[in-house]
Amino acid sequence: MNTDKSFFGHPIGLRTLFLTEMWERMSYYGMRALLVLYMTGSITGFNPGMGMSAIDANAIYGIYVGFVYFMVVPGGWIADNILGHQKAVLIGAIIIALGHFTLAIPLEQTFFLGLILVVLGTGLLKGNISTIVGKLYSDDDTRRDSGYTIFYMSINIGSTLGFLICAWLGEKIGWHYGFGAAGVGMVLGVYQYLKFKHLLGDAGEKPNDMEDIKRNKLIKWTKNSLALMFIVIALGLFGIISIDPRTFAENFAYFLTIVAGIYFLYLYFFAGLDFNEKRNLLLLFVLFVGAAAFWSGFDQSASSLSIFARDFTDLSVAGYIIPIGWLQFANPIFVVTFAPIFAGIWANLARRNMDPSLPIKFAIGLFFMAISFMVMVFAVGLAMESAPVGMQWLLITYLLQTWGELALSPIGLSAFSKYSPKRYMGQMFGLWFLASAIGGVLAGLLGGDATADGLDSVQPIFTFMIQYYLVIGIILVGLSFLFKSKKETEAIPR
Ligand code: GLN
Repeated sequence: MNTDKSFFGHPIGLRTLFLTEMWERMSYYGMRALLVLYMTGSITGFNPGMGMSAIDANAIYGIYVGFVYFMVVPGGWIADNILGHQKAVLIGAIIIALGHFTLAIPLEQTFFLGLILVVLGTGLLKGNISTIVGKLYSDDDTRRDSGYTIFYMSINIGSTLGFLICAWLGEKIGWHYGFGAAGVGMVLGVYQYLKFKHLLGDAGEKPNDMEDIKRNKLIKWTKNSLALMFIVIALGLFGIISIDPRTFAENFAYFLTIVAGIYFLYLYFFAGLDFNEKRNLLLLFVLFVGAAAFWSGFDQSASSLSIFARDFTDLSVAGYIIPIGWLQFANPIFVVTFAPIFAGIWANLARRNMDPSLPIKFAIGLFFMAISFMVMVFAVGLAMESAPVGMQWLLITYLLQTWGELALSPIGLSAFSKYSPKRYMGQMFGLWFLASAIGGVLAGLLGGDATADGLDSVQPIFTFMIQYYLVIGIILVGLSFLFKSKKETEAIPR
């Protein structure tokens, strides 16, 4: 057992992962805050954007977020079988930094290449770094859960930094400076990871055991797939295959849903699960649907809500116009503030044996999401009478969404680790991220529809979203009776 307690009572390797994830999230969220604003920005003026329509820009944003989380699945597979998790994180971090620097080149042609590099790098880094966190502890080490909680803080400190630095540079100085700053952040992450990687010891150092012949076959297969992927990417980048973003995003959403559906069906019918394992799988499926719906609202922050902030919100504070992206750090700041309070509430309820079951907690998450959009519908109504409106509406919206996030996200991975069939655990984590992928693409599609026609299109789409969160939330409450005994008091965030 690892008895090292040098980082807040945890193994020192956690510090290495904490700082790497912090810089990675700084770059991810910093850049994400600029993406839709840059794409929809006018092509003239002091800081020219790409002049895209809201529908196309949001579709590209959705495809981007969807791919970032979808790539976690192959990224995990490559680490498990070929690279080992430590090396996968390193290579991923370097590719992400290259991606942001590519975005910093002020050319339209390099824009998509930069996005693709960030997607590929994040696929190698995001899931695997969370896996190494778990590997720092032996199976019976009770510190693992709180280790993940500390790790979750790094995500939110990182995103606060990202919004602060990249949004200011990108919006006030020039978009490409913002993208470049994300790259500099990731370089700092790479530097400290290289310097302190040895503190991880052998946690996630080696891939799984396999005969050389088998591994070589997998390596060959992976190389061929990568080569094929690069050919397709190159054809797209040189305009030989033309892609309509909206149609692509719609098909991508179907594709992700079908992949997830097939995987759940396969596990249920063909994976040789016993009765209890099948019941647990049904529970995870229910949570999966709830999570995908939730992220489709959460990811509006850099989509429709950003556009609302830019076009219809008064951003002046004591005479200074703050960058649009600064409103988004409400989310991470609220997470850090309220995470201990939520953990306390669950623990308190658990002591009285009143801790809600998992589907109920997910339903609470969705209800908060629905209420957050009710606030927005009200704010949109005000803006229709006279714009701009005060920024308090967006801040209240983010507060409600953060409460929803805390009821859902920190326990999601914990549930997936606890109730997954043991031999399929790694892949089940991939499925959890697939819910984020589906949510991301839906966010792009919904955000595009909402902002296609100025304020006129916002209200009907947000009203539709409220209904869909409420319906899924109510279904989860209904289904919770089937899974009455499934509780989750310990928080393991993603
Ligand atoms: N805020 C969390 C993170 O960045 C979860 C985001 C998501 O899964 N969509 O890790």
